[in-house]
Amino acid sequence: MEWRVSHRRYALPLRAVLRTARGEWRAREGLFLRLKDESGRTGLGEAAPVPWFGMGDVDTLEAGARSWEGRMDPERLGSVGGCLGFALRSAARAWAQPAGAAREHVAVAALLPAGRAALARVAERLEAGFRCFKWKVGVEAVADELVLLEDLLGRLPGGAKLRLDANGAWDRRTAERWLDRCAEYPVEFIEQPVAPEARGAADLLLGLAGDYPTPLALDESLVGDGDVERWIGMGWPGVFVVKPALFGDPATVLGRLAKAGAPVVFSSALETVVGAEAALRWALAWPGELRAVGFGVWPLFADGRFDGPAAAPFIRRVDLDRLQTEAAWNALS
Ligand code: MG
Repeated sequence: MEWRVSHRRYALPLRAVLRTARGEWRAREGLFLRLKDESGRTGLGEAAPVPWFGMGDVDTLEAGARSWEGRMDPERLGSVGGCLGFALRSAARAWAQPAGAAREHVAVAALLPAGRAALARVAERLEAGFRCFKWKVGVEAVADELVLLEDLLGRLPGGAKLRLDANGAWDRRTAERWLDRCAEYPVEFIEQPVAPEARGAADLLLGLAGDYPTPLALDESLVGDGDVERWIGMGWPGVFVVKPALFGDPATVLGRLAKAGAPVVFSSALETVVGAEAALRWALAWPGELRAVGFGVWPLFADGRFDGPAAAPFIRRVDLDRLQTEAAWNALS
């Protein structure tokens, strides 16, 4: 058996500039891969590296795709990791769905902007039916954000959940100040309080997770299959934020997390509809507790043909079946 492999490269302007702790994002770059087997079945996959995660730039990935010269022995799949591994395995999975009963739907967490703007947004998102919220912190002065936190929690009805995402912005003292305060509040978890590249970050994260009652979550610390293995090995007691698109072999990584009984939150890596469809199918197949997923990101692209399912309080399996992934591929011809 042999696969015929083709690829198309994209550089897609975003609808709005995205501000992150690592600077501004104006466009998303990546590759689509298309596999065709000898019986004519086709599948699509996406490689969407995050530039500062050290996972290879798009030129390197494209060179990798070219090196197959249009043909590939499926036996070679085992040696392909990283974003290309995700793309190839997603494409192959399109005609070979793994066994196991997937769920029918999953709740979506609404993203709240940093600062005071979160207050207006939370009212609007509650109205739309969302009950889980993620607020970006570590952007304004700590004292101001702590006042806003109280205000924000006061606006949530019983049963609603609030998670915080510091994107690695805090040092130890700031993290301790926040965690002291959060101990009094029903915060679901805090994502990445300190940056993975900070000195002694692993010991600091483990120490903070052990010293305070609010659960912590790893996000930027998990940029490939090996990171997950390492944190499981270190006995990480908190949540693992899983962006399936960053894993070369999601089946193996998710199998390890399930076996370890780890709490997992699935999240977008700001991929297009092609990668998102594969990532969301992994979420629906998760055997453990399925917490609200971080996929409330669309509409994201200036060209809506590349968007995943529009932000709604739930994503249903039937919504995934209706996604037009081929249209995204065709849009690049
Ligand atoms: Mg995060």
